[in-house]
Amino acid sequence: MQVAIGLDLGGTQLKFGLVTRDGEVVHDDVVPSRTAEGILGVKASLEEAVGALQEKARWKGHTIVAAGLGMPGTVSGSRGTVLTAPPQIPGIMGFHAGTYLRSVSGVKAAVDNDATVAALGEARVGVGVGAPTMLLATVGTGIGGGVVIGGQLVRGRYGTGGEIGHSVFVPDGLPCAHGGAGCLELYASATALKRIYVDMGGAEGMEPKNIAARAEKGEAAAVRAFDRVGRNLGLGLAQAATLIAPDVIAIGGGLADAGKLLMDPLRQSFRAQVLPYVAKGARILRAKLRNRAGIIGAAILAFEEGL
Ligand SMILES: [Zn+2]
Repeated sequence: MQVAIGLDLGGTQLKFGLVTRDGEVVHDDVVPSRTAEGILGVKASLEEAVGALQEKARWKGHTIVAAGLGMPGTVSGSRGTVLTAPPQIPGIMGFHAGTYLRSVSGVKAAVDNDATVAALGEARVGVGVGAPTMLLATVGTGIGGGVVIGGQLVRGRYGTGGEIGHSVFVPDGLPCAHGGAGCLELYASATALKRIYVDMGGAEGMEPKNIAARAEKGEAAAVRAFDRVGRNLGLGLAQAATLIAPDVIAIGGGLADAGKLLMDPLRQSFRAQVLPYVAKGARILRAKLRNRAGIIGAAILAFEEGL
């Protein structure tokens, strides 16, 4: 069977897999991403993953026809050049990730931002199937975003299109790493939840899953923190949805694991804010591909756009 390599590079782990054109993962595994060793560590990690997948494909009788990589930061152009290195992987600015992946794998390759490839994966084989216009928000430490219109990814000139986490939520608000202020991700992410929970009188140092467990037991600070973050996210997505009136708004990332705690206030604030027919047209759903969204999306990107 024809398969593509899908790679999902994070700050601590490199997830990788073999994926069919239908988005089925026939094999997957994980290695450390070795980001502390800089570009050489990242390259070694990618080589290890590609080598392991080539061996697995030979053994299982699959033919690798393309290789794709999703990673945080801004990636642009046919060489897959890293224009903005993410804070968790410093030192890879200027890395021609596409060219490198092509030479290591020996097949056509494509590289893009992790939320962008996740949006493509959800659009093709996930929650966005049958939805021509889709908005994806991956809510974790920050908020990643991807936009699909008419079945096509919206990237813009340098590949930064769809980064809804950096739309303005509070004028002159908290400072953001790229120099702006008041960005949505500072008020509606896992990081925001932890801060808001403390503001609401909750204990310091709690992780989102601990806060969720406390909310499930009815602790007031935890319930109110999730309510605030969910409403913030709903209002932020209302801004983006007003522009494109999506058929589906997909919520992915670690914070989506909180389920109704996040989704109920999100849906409520969204519907209260947007035009009636924006609300009527948009289904707000949990993203479907979960922690394999990066692998599947990267593989589908490679099948469709590999060079
Ligand atoms: Zn920002």
